[in-house]
Amino acid sequence: MEGKILRGKDIAVKIEEELKKQVEAQKRKLGRALQLTTVVIAEDSASKIYLASQAKVAARLGIGFDFQKLPGDISQNNLDKKIQNLNQAGTVDGILIQMPLPMHLDPKRAINFLSPDKDVEGLHPQNLGKLFFLEPKIISPTVASVMAILEETKIDLQGKEVVIVGHSEIVGKPLSLLLLNKLATTTVCHIGTSRAGHLEMHLKRAEILIVAVGKPRFIKGSSLKKGVVVVDVGINRENGKLVGDVDFETAKKKASFITPVPGGVGALTPVMLMRNLLRLTQ
Ligand code: NDP
Repeated sequence: MEGKILRGKDIAVKIEEELKKQVEAQKRKLGRALQLTTVVIAEDSASKIYLASQAKVAARLGIGFDFQKLPGDISQNNLDKKIQNLNQAGTVDGILIQMPLPMHLDPKRAINFLSPDKDVEGLHPQNLGKLFFLEPKIISPTVASVMAILEETKIDLQGKEVVIVGHSEIVGKPLSLLLLNKLATTTVCHIGTSRAGHLEMHLKRAEILIVAVGKPRFIKGSSLKKGVVVVDVGINRENGKLVGDVDFETAKKKASFITPVPGGVGALTPVMLMRNLLRLTQ
């Protein structure tokens, strides 16, 4: 029997419905629409897709959205100033700095300049630190999407063998803390795990597997335990098509639940971003 497909889109519709009411109530309270500003310096095809989805979801929710395109050769000092101006702008509720930045700019410094109160992606060290102490208000929309998808399975995470592949600051690391907070037995695999030849061993015992590596169809069904829940965060372009980090066709034969790409985690991310924006104003 094949695994049940967990469509991010279906979950997004439910969350968006509730969010819309809350956004409207907050709009009445503030006497104006909520406002998200995205700063764009370098644009690749992935960031264009993300920008377009931010604009679409914002429009559906009645949220003001604008993106400010800065010159590709902007200096770090000028970027700092730009961020500080947005931090001080009374009508801007949330700021998103679209990654990746051009090579000459330091993304960590840019994030540090963001006001934690306007950090809509939950990347500022102050917001990340709250994860450590079990009290996050704002978490990365991608991570929030993964958690919402896991909730949809109704599986109790306590004591589950959860394996995360990828330890980036925006996905793997914050996710590992959240899952730890849910008392899941959390293993984080990365390039070192693969180099040591241990990845297969961890994959084989995963009851819940979350993959954020950025390599098309990197994980095959043959490596998985029967009944595993698979959440594929990866978005890769292969022969003009979007594919995940998991080989969907072989993995779905082993999984009890599996997310597709496209239409999985990525479909929920912009909605979770807007939920963060609302929370920043509350
Ligand atoms: P990064 O490149 O920042 O991180 C990739 C991670 O994978 C790193 O921790 C890296 O380890 C690890 N890795 C690389 N190769 C291997 C390997 N052979 N074995 C084990 N681990 C490995 O990527 P992101 O986290 O930013 O993104 C990952 C994927 O998720 C991408 O496809 C991206 O497009 C997608 N994504 C999707 C989002 C969504 O909303 N759906 C949002 C964000 C990202 P090391 O650093 O040690 O090399």
